Amino acid sequence: MASRLLLRSAVRAAAVYRASPVIALTRGMAAGGIPTDQEQATGMEKLVMHALKQGSDPYSMLKPKEYAGSKQDPHVVPSITNKRIVGCICEEDNTSVVWFWLHEGEPQRCPSCGAHYKLVPHQLPH
Ligand SMILES: [Zn+2]
Repeated sequence: MASRLLLRSAVRAAAVYRASPVIALTRGMAAGGIPTDQEQATGMEKLVMHALKQGSDPYSMLKPKEYAGSKQDPHVVPSITNKRIVGCICEEDNTSVVWFWLHEGEPQRCPSCGAHYKLVPHQLPH
């Protein structure tokens, strides 16, 4: 008798188990899914990601833009002060660098090749 009751309750339990929906593992999904890098970034990483998303490059991580070096399109040199030392490799395969100080104001020319350089103010992001 006891074994019959035990069997009946086991069958009921199995029927209830089959009828209930299968509970899938929901690790990380309860809060809307796995967070992206931008959602979980903090501090400096978050600042850099936000700046790159807006198209700016505050830490000069991207390849610098190329300029013609002419008077109309001078090489732009960012600086946090009113002057900066610039090294010009006048020709592509030169092994020596021509160094000169670039000051704020009008574009200056390289003393060797004559390429134009212009100093622009730059603010550090922090
Ligand atoms: Zn030069």
